[in-house]
Amino acid sequence: MDLNDTPEQARYRAKVRAWLDEHASEAPAQQDEDDPAYVTARRAWQGKLAAAGLAGVAWPAELGGQGLGAVEQVIVNQEISRAGVPGVLDVIGVGMLGPTIIAHGSDEQKSRYLGPMLHGDEVWCQLFSEPAAGSDLAAVQARAVPEADGGWRLTGQKVWTTNAHFAAFGLLLARTDPEVPKHKGLTMFIVPMDAPGVTIRGLRQISGEAEFNEVFFDDVRLEADAVCGPLGGGWGTALTTLMFERLTIGLGSESLGYRPERYARAIAGDEHARRDPEARRRLGELAVELLAVKFTGYRMLSALQQGQIPGPEAGLAKVTTVRSAIAAGDLIADVLGPGALDEDGEWAYMISFLPGLKSAGGTEEILRNTIGERVLGLPPEPRLDKGIPFSELRAKERAAVTSS
Ligand SMILES: Cc1cc2nc3c(=O)[nH]c(=O)nc-3n(C[C@H](O)[C@H](O)[C@H](O)COP(=O)(O)OP(=O)(O)OC[C@H]3O[C@@H](n4cnc5c(N)ncnc54)[C@H](O)[C@@H]3O)c2cc1C
Repeated sequence: MDLNDTPEQARYRAKVRAWLDEHASEAPAQQDEDDPAYVTARRAWQGKLAAAGLAGVAWPAELGGQGLGAVEQVIVNQEISRAGVPGVLDVIGVGMLGPTIIAHGSDEQKSRYLGPMLHGDEVWCQLFSEPAAGSDLAAVQARAVPEADGGWRLTGQKVWTTNAHFAAFGLLLARTDPEVPKHKGLTMFIVPMDAPGVTIRGLRQISGEAEFNEVFFDDVRLEADAVCGPLGGGWGTALTTLMFERLTIGLGSESLGYRPERYARAIAGDEHARRDPEARRRLGELAVELLAVKFTGYRMLSALQQGQIPGPEAGLAKVTTVRSAIAAGDLIADVLGPGALDEDGEWAYMISFLPGLKSAGGTEEILRNTIGERVLGLPPEPRLDKGIPFSELRAKERAAVTSS
C-alpha cells in the first residue's frame, strides 16, 4: 500500500525502518512452526518487537500498546515485510483476542493477560469453531454449566484451533443457556490450556504443517473470573473478535507477501512465459485485483482514522486477496511445472496452504452472502431458526436425522 505518508508518518516510518535495519540480523530465519525451538525463537523476537513498540501499535498506551492508529500499524507491517523478517508470532492474540479483551474484559483481566500476550511470553488461541459450528458459529455446543461457588464446568470439542499446541490460554465461546435462541445463550471464557481435562490433538495439513488442532474439554473447571464480557452476551464479544480478524487479514495482506511484483518476478525468469499472452493476461488480472484490494484497504484505513468501524465490505479484501493469491499460485505452478512444489522452494507453501485460507476467517460463500445482504442490499437468506430456543433446534435436527 503506497500510503503517501504525511511528514509525521514519514518520520515514523523512518524510525521503524532504522530499528529493523539495526536488529534484522537478530530475527529467526524461517523454519517449520512444528519445531519448538523455532517457536521459542519467534516468541523472543516478538518480545523484541514489543519492547521496540512494533507490536500492538494500535493498542492503548496505558495497556502496553503505542496508542497509534491503523495507518501506523500498516506502516509497521510494510516495513517488517520490506526487512524480510517475521512479524509477531501470536497474530491471533495480538491482532484479535487482545483487542477483544481490551473491549470487553475486566480491569483484572486486562492487567493480568495483555502484557505477557503482547511480549510473546504467553501465546493465545481462538477456541470458536466446532465440528458442527463453523460458518454457523452461533450453533456452538460446548457447554459451560455454573457451579454453586460461581465457577463453571466446561465440556465439549473445538476444532481448527491454530497454535493450541503451544498456547497458554484460549478465548472460548460456550453455551451457557440452551433455553434461549442460539445467539443469546452464549458466553466467552478465558481458558488455561494446561487445565486438567483439556486434551489437544494436532491436525496435519497438506502443506505438511500441523499448525492447528482439535481440542477436547472434559469437565474442565473454570473459575468465576474466567468469564470475559457479559454473561449471555458472548455473541457480541465474538463479533468483536471477528471484526478484528477481518481487519488483521485485510490490513496484513502485504506482510503476508501477496504482492503482484513478487509473482511477476517468479514468471519473468521463464523465457516462454514472458512472451506468452495468456500468462501475461493472467498476471495482469490478478495484479488488478490486488490493486483493488489496496484501494479497499485505503477506504478501511480512512474509516478507521475517522473513528469509524469498517463494515462488512472489509470481507471483500479477504475474499479478493485469497482468490488472487491462489490464482498466482496456479499461474506459477503452470509456468514452473512440478518444481513449483519443491519443498525447499519459495512457492510450495503458498500453493498448498492458500486453499485452506478460503475457509479461515469466514468462508468465501459466507463473506459473499454478507456482502450481498449488507453491502448490496440483496434479500437475506431465510433464517428458520430465528427466535427458537437452541435446545428445541437441536431436538428438531435430531428428529429430522432419525426420520430420514
Ligand atoms: C487455516 C485455518 C485456520 C483456522 N483457525 C481457526 C482458529 O484458530 N480458531 C477457530 O475457532 N477456527 C479456526 N478456523 C476455522 C474456520 O473459522 C472455519 O473453517 C470456518 O468458519 C468455516 O467453518 P467450517 O470449516 O466448519 O465449514 P462449514 O461451515 O461446515 O462450511 C462448509 C462449506 O459450506 C459452505 N456454507 C456453509 N454455510 C453456508 C451458507 N449459509 N451459504 C452458502 N454456503 C455455506 C461454506 O462456505 C463451506 O464452503 C481455521 C480454519 C482454517 C482453514
